[in-house]
Amino acid sequence: MMIETPPGLDLAEANARLANARPQEILRWAVDAFHPKLTMATAFGPEGCAILHMLAEIEPRVRVFNLDTGYQFPETLELRDRIARRYGIEVEMVRAEASVAEYEASNGGPIYASDPDRCCHDRKLVPLRKAVEGYDAWISAIRADQSEHRAKADVVGWDAKFGLVKVNPLLKWTKRDVWAFVVTNDVPYNPLHDQGYPSIGCWPCTRAIRQGEDERAGRWAGQAKTECGLHSLDSSQL
Ligand code: SF4
Repeated sequence: MMIETPPGLDLAEANARLANARPQEILRWAVDAFHPKLTMATAFGPEGCAILHMLAEIEPRVRVFNLDTGYQFPETLELRDRIARRYGIEVEMVRAEASVAEYEASNGGPIYASDPDRCCHDRKLVPLRKAVEGYDAWISAIRADQSEHRAKADVVGWDAKFGLVKVNPLLKWTKRDVWAFVVTNDVPYNPLHDQGYPSIGCWPCTRAIRQGEDERAGRWAGQAKTECGLHSLDSSQL
């Protein structure tokens, strides 16, 4: 596939140079290289909130958005307002054209249990594609230790799925690193994390986990699905 990165940008060189850089240095590089054509999607996990804290100090005007499926927890929506009050960053809510009521009516009811891939496609991926139109790069909050899929990502790489440079500033951080940063800097976070939910998505597809379970075991529990499709790797990244 033809890779159209901004002129003079060598992604392999940038990835090699930034492979062990601090997240703030990676974000600084991304802002210098791409802002204002740099964007970020966040589901308000602790990783995303940590990045928002960093962006508030580096470049608070980076456009950040949330894929508001209509099925998010009230605690997640409240966190958006707490972030705005704390940092002055208004995370944009990006929605599907159809409201949840319209969507469910046209499908004979909710389909998150019967066909979660289509539900994620319609409520997340389609709005996401529109939301990133015109941008050159996006920031993600994935960590390599979250899954085998994510372990194959680069700090800076080409996301052929969306036609964007993808910047993963927290790739080398562990869950412990993230929480140490959140606690030390008093970063706002979702209170559900204190109630057994390490990974939070839409309420129909998220449950609390039991001791010893993988941190993403509560997402689409009981189904083969482990990712919503935003961060699945394609062959260009393997
Ligand atoms: S996570 Fe569940 S409710 Fe949310 S878009 Fe995907 S299938 Fe639908």
